[in-house]
Amino acid sequence: MDFSFLNALLDTLITSVSADSLAPVKIVKTIGWNSLVFFIFTVIGYFAAAGGLYAFYRLRPSSPFALSAADRTPAKIWNSIRNDVVLSVLSSGIFAFCAALMMSAFEQGYTRLYLESDRYSFWYLGVSLVLVILLQDTYFYFTHRLAHHPKCYKWLHQGHHHFKNPTPWTAFSFDPAEALIQAIYLIGVVFIVPMHFSVLCAVVLVMTLGALIHHFGFRLFADSAFGKWLGGWMVGPLHHWMHHRKYTAHYSLYFTFWDKVMGTQQDGYEEILSRPSVRELTLAIATDTAKTIEKPSPATVVPLSMSIKKAS
Ligand SMILES: [Zn+2]
Ligand SMILES: [Zn+2]
Repeated sequence: MDFSFLNALLDTLITSVSADSLAPVKIVKTIGWNSLVFFIFTVIGYFAAAGGLYAFYRLRPSSPFALSAADRTPAKIWNSIRNDVVLSVLSSGIFAFCAALMMSAFEQGYTRLYLESDRYSFWYLGVSLVLVILLQDTYFYFTHRLAHHPKCYKWLHQGHHHFKNPTPWTAFSFDPAEALIQAIYLIGVVFIVPMHFSVLCAVVLVMTLGALIHHFGFRLFADSAFGKWLGGWMVGPLHHWMHHRKYTAHYSLYFTFWDKVMGTQQDGYEEILSRPSVRELTLAIATDTAKTIEKPSPATVVPLSMSIKKAS
């Protein structure tokens, strides 16, 4: 698509104003172009990654590691994907605009991002990466809890829970307000924590991979002592799938720490991790009682008895 007419229009606009007001116009133009570029790359990446993982998901619906494939009809799947894609493209626009704002602030020297490799010790790269991820884990847990509050749920988080069986297409599926809340974390943290630019890129990569993996639709942790230990502390597809089915448990992002501390982890979760099939998993979840912290409005709750019948 040729956008050169936009460039010409903006150049005309720039030359028609006085020199004093030139800088702000240039900044707006840069933010606009950067937003467009980031948006195109984000959408292409989303379709490539989510599409690839979804193809894997569709090719193995009867795998014992597949989550929830049994209770989905083609019409439901299509409806779910359409909803997820629309919201994900909208969210990509918001993420791209926020990224462009951040880049502009970086270029103006307002952030604590840096490019020099010798500004801090080498080990600080790792420390800052871990710090930013742990802060994000905390920020996400509490904003996620807020998003499930009955007064916020409908306009902040309902889009992500449109269907209770997520697919990789759900990875970026946020209502615009929720996308903004998540983007604000990254915009804010670059003003607080000194961070090498490569660390920021690593955080974005971790966020993206995390979102895709959580909605992968397959259990990942192996049925071994180490796999169970890892699955007990890391949020994986099963952990987050249970959140999509129950709403009142499992709000964490990367680690199960905050769910454990705040009492929102599914009772007997470690034991559920070792259930061999999706049917057993569904029954295990149904027979346990989630700790109810905030109740979503009745319209958003899917009775578990329904999902058991369909999955049987
Ligand atoms: Zn989700
Ligand atoms: Zn949620």
